Amino acid sequence: MARTVTLQMVRNIGIMAHIDAGKTTSTERILYYTGRVHRPGEVDDGAAQMDYMEQERERGITITSAATTCQWRDHQINIIDTPGHVDFTAEVERSLRVLDGAIAVFCGVGGVEPQSETVWRQADKYGVPRIAFINKMDRLGADFERAVQSMRDRLGANPLPIQLPIGVEDSFRGVVDLVEMNARLMHDEDLGATFDTVAIPDELREAADLARAALVENLAEIDETVMELFVAGEQPSAEQLLAALRVGTLQGGLVPVLCGSALKNKGVQKLLDAIVDFLPSPLDRPAVSGRRPDSDREETRAVDDDEAYAGIVFKILTDKHAGRLSFVRVYSGVLEAGKTVLIANKNKKERVQRLMRMHADKREELKEARCGDIVAVVGLKSIQTGDTLTALNKPLLLEEMDFPEPVIFVAIEPKTKADQDKLAGALDGLSEEDPTFHIRKDPDSGQTIIWGMGELHLEILCDRMQREYNVACNVGRPQVAYRETITAAVTKCFEFNKETGGKGNYAKVNVALSPGEYGSGFAFSNRVPPEVIPAAYIPAVENGLRQACDTGVLAGYPLVDIDTALVGGAYDESESSEMAFLVAATQALWDGAREADPVLLEPVMEVEINVPADFLGDVTGHLNAKRGRINGMEQVRQERVVKAQVPLKEMFGYATELRSLTQGRGVYTMQLARYERVPEKIAAAITRLYVGS
Ligand code: GDP
Repeated sequence: MARTVTLQMVRNIGIMAHIDAGKTTSTERILYYTGRVHRPGEVDDGAAQMDYMEQERERGITITSAATTCQWRDHQINIIDTPGHVDFTAEVERSLRVLDGAIAVFCGVGGVEPQSETVWRQADKYGVPRIAFINKMDRLGADFERAVQSMRDRLGANPLPIQLPIGVEDSFRGVVDLVEMNARLMHDEDLGATFDTVAIPDELREAADLARAALVENLAEIDETVMELFVAGEQPSAEQLLAALRVGTLQGGLVPVLCGSALKNKGVQKLLDAIVDFLPSPLDRPAVSGRRPDSDREETRAVDDDEAYAGIVFKILTDKHAGRLSFVRVYSGVLEAGKTVLIANKNKKERVQRLMRMHADKREELKEARCGDIVAVVGLKSIQTGDTLTALNKPLLLEEMDFPEPVIFVAIEPKTKADQDKLAGALDGLSEEDPTFHIRKDPDSGQTIIWGMGELHLEILCDRMQREYNVACNVGRPQVAYRETITAAVTKCFEFNKETGGKGNYAKVNVALSPGEYGSGFAFSNRVPPEVIPAAYIPAVENGLRQACDTGVLAGYPLVDIDTALVGGAYDESESSEMAFLVAATQALWDGAREADPVLLEPVMEVEINVPADFLGDVTGHLNAKRGRINGMEQVRQERVVKAQVPLKEMFGYATELRSLTQGRGVYTMQLARYERVPEKIAAAITRLYVGS
């Protein structure tokens, strides 16, 4: 079957923005102008199209990374929703991994906010080409120049304005196009769907000439044709400038900047033009490569329908009508409905029942999804986010995504027997969708413990349990996910010799424990010859040591960064068993770790706080009292940006504290810096609590 659009005409894009910058509104206007939705739903009435889940609407933030498709100038644009909140950096990373280009939306008043900075750096990491949209030009205090400057100052980017705003705040009416050198004024009556193209207003003529000169000069540096014309003192054509802008954007050397007001329906069509003109098609991006599971060989798959099929699952959603939807980015080949695929990292075969393209207001059933496409698959049962789907005869493991380990947990208890019965299903569903959400049962209390990336993350998960799965729970207080490690090397012998008769009661192991490198987790090596302990028992020893590390020796937290080695022991021809070795190894590790100067580790967060200068003293004083280390301070306009490292424990409830310290004007972001040793006094209190319980 022929493609309805060629691969060059596909754009897989994300919209990245600080919360409240106007991502949802911009997305809705895009869907409106592209003709998929009849009237733009206003976020303020909670009718947003992209915001899948109810509580997102209530909170006014976008959490999920669903994909929506629309058409502009015969191009197919797949919009992958990227979350703006820092508790969801894993989701941002995941969506950046599957998209080809992005629009960064900034507020015309606030410019680059700290949260946008985090996402920007992630996009740098994945080499994602970007264009910028300075939104809210109608708001009081909007300043295009200043917002562009904040991109230079805070992001180190090379922003290149291709427009100028006409009027500002209340009088913002349209934009000057520096490529075409004309002006566009939107009609308010039909929500900006129609507009007039007119000459540049006199009062903006000089500014436009200057900005145009800067644009041409910048493009001359990256494009020979523009350079030659520039040197000859001639003006390049619009096509020549557009071509140079495209090259510069794809190389990552510049970021074209547009402006507008999504809410007031101004500038969004030009933004759509810019997506088509400047952002990459799948063919402009490097071919995907992975590892052959059978041979461990690196292999690259060309961006081509005729290649063997390979794709990655970047999002799972449970949909009321269609059931479980796995969102897949197809990197090479063709994925067909009704065919069986291999989940390469699980070595499992499953059938693709149906394929769907998701539009804002409807689903379109597809027979096949071609290379470069983004689609929803129905029918994959054992799928998880991050899994690779490949052709049966050509398995390939695509680069695995790394998901951060959760740093916070909370105990939950179903309210009634009915809730109890539904709990497991709800937890399974939610954890399949979200790899940063973990579940564990406390072996002693039998309580269910859920782990996540931050207070808001867990709050939202509990909320969804209630709404989507109808499971009501009592939720405890969030707790820090501490870890344990050892700081000294010991060798420990344990002999298991149960006298009660029967077979399988003897094992003796001598294990050497030593501190491992930061982040190494658990390592094991065997240094005994098979005459001393037969090879058949070694996996049991390793398992025993590993399992013992799951619950440490100080306060029951996982023991990490530990090197273990089996250095001696004994077995009995008729009495030994795997179970006996497992038990002996477990006990040897616990006994040994207790003697190896164990310490407690806590997550320390990289925190960045923006406050008006007046509140600086209060905020830094407050951080000092929280064991915070202040690493730097910057001035951005009237504001101060404080960078600090603070233990997560001290950051609980910080949103409220910061609000009251700064009359609501401070904002902060945080992410895990590293795990560090808990000061002795505090550690003693935590350990005591554990022993006491
Ligand atoms: P998101 O959090 O980035 O998705 O932002 P939203 O699209 O939900 O917008 C946040 C708030 O800003 C809402 O109240 C919008 O109505 C408002 N908003 C969005 N775009 C504009 C704009 O261009 N001008 C003004 N004045 N307000 C806007």
